[in-house]
Amino acid sequence: MTLENMTLQTSYLRLDEEFYRLTDRIPLDEPYLISFNPDAAKLIDLDDETRNDPQFVALLNGTFTPQGSSPFAMSYAGHQFGNYNPWLGDGRASNLGNMNGWNLQLKGSGETLYSRMADGRTVVRSSIREYLMSEAMHHLGVPTTRALGIIGSKTKVLRNRMEDAAIVMRMSPSWVRFGTFEYFYYSSQHKNLEMLAEYVIAESYPHLKDDEDRFYKMFCEVVDRTAVLIAKWQGLGFCHGVMNTDNMSIAGLTLDYGPFSMMDDFRYGFICNHTDKIGRYSYAEQPNISYWNLTKLSETLPKLVSKERMAKKLEDFGAFIYPDAYINIMREKLGLDVEVENDLELIEELLVALHDAFVDYTIFFRTLSRYDGDRTALYDIAMNPVVIHNWLELYEERLLQETRSHVERHEVMLKTNPKYVLKNYMLDEAIVLAEKGDFSLVEKLLSIASHPYDEMPEHEYFAKETPEEHKNRGLACSS
Ligand code: AMP
Ligand code: MG
Repeated sequence: MTLENMTLQTSYLRLDEEFYRLTDRIPLDEPYLISFNPDAAKLIDLDDETRNDPQFVALLNGTFTPQGSSPFAMSYAGHQFGNYNPWLGDGRASNLGNMNGWNLQLKGSGETLYSRMADGRTVVRSSIREYLMSEAMHHLGVPTTRALGIIGSKTKVLRNRMEDAAIVMRMSPSWVRFGTFEYFYYSSQHKNLEMLAEYVIAESYPHLKDDEDRFYKMFCEVVDRTAVLIAKWQGLGFCHGVMNTDNMSIAGLTLDYGPFSMMDDFRYGFICNHTDKIGRYSYAEQPNISYWNLTKLSETLPKLVSKERMAKKLEDFGAFIYPDAYINIMREKLGLDVEVENDLELIEELLVALHDAFVDYTIFFRTLSRYDGDRTALYDIAMNPVVIHNWLELYEERLLQETRSHVERHEVMLKTNPKYVLKNYMLDEAIVLAEKGDFSLVEKLLSIASHPYDEMPEHEYFAKETPEEHKNRGLACSS
């Protein structure tokens, strides 16, 4: 399909006018294509040739509007760093409509009624980060929004320095946030809150549509999806950095990529967001904070679901920093097939050992995926090998309870523990080049990120330990 033939649906606009504001997109000056993502294009039946269609740049720049589209910005509120903000909303995003279940959204397309004092823009740097990382997460098996392409421009915007403005086209099965529920609840719009819940069920939980108990079941599924999402983040060493309730997806997706980071050397308390002085959103806190955010969601629903039932559901989830979903993921990462009751102890011992060993989280698991009794490779990657040695004694003992052979275990682990993850220093390298007009590394990282478990000798550079000066460096929120 070409862009001219594409027709979008805008079912969100059938909701009450409080849900959104129609918005004008404000084009950037001298826009140019930075990248086109063929994998995402397939999801909405767009031809590969769209890459070369000048209308594609126009689509992202807001000078071409697909059939059926009526751009709008969505209303939401949210708890930011624990404090309630009643008026957030899409301050720099326009939603174009839905195709094949994917809601297309331009990020950086200019001011909206929700922009408050800000400029409605995003920059090349942040757009490349979001574009590449969302693709990487998808290929790592993590539920996430996707991205179709990026344009840059000659329009300048001020962040910590003057930067080139960009627009990234994002796609998501849902853009509804916990904060969307908060917006209606705290402004006492109870009819609209119920309408929102019905909309979310139709969009993200359609199997519940005719269920009398659908609101409770929707809440339970949000809890379960969130538990799985966070468990996947923890398993991969992904830190989101800004887990405000407005950045929590009602569909359990990774949403709003900002100062995120993949862990380099494993530091349990790693804070990837410089603005987060106390580590509210540190790696260690992500499970707790997701629980807190789910509690905030439950507080918006008492007119639809009994508080006691929600509290019970949350109790089942929140009693553990490590829910079952996490233990299962870690079992997979360790190649363990049999469930043994005290596996959590083995996992906790491992986290302590990784912390004390100063070892790269990704490289450790990839190396462990070939472990056959010879420990040399594992000692070589650790600054403090003795703690790895001590943990391997426990692991060896635990492996005795398994029925898999070394070879079988390796096979599974190599499909679970990625060889390639996008670390911040790699993204930085791509950004530096892109800001000079060279997009080759963006393309290369997009391709590498699409094959995280493959051995690609030509890309060995991107599987190496992070250079010392770049390890676990936090980022500022400014984007
Ligand atoms: P974020 O940190 O990107 O999740 O954004 C938090 C809130 O601030 C959302 O309501 C955004 O729409 C808004 N926002 C962030 N940056 C800008 C900007 N440059 N212009 C307008 N609104 C913004
Ligand atoms: Mg956000």
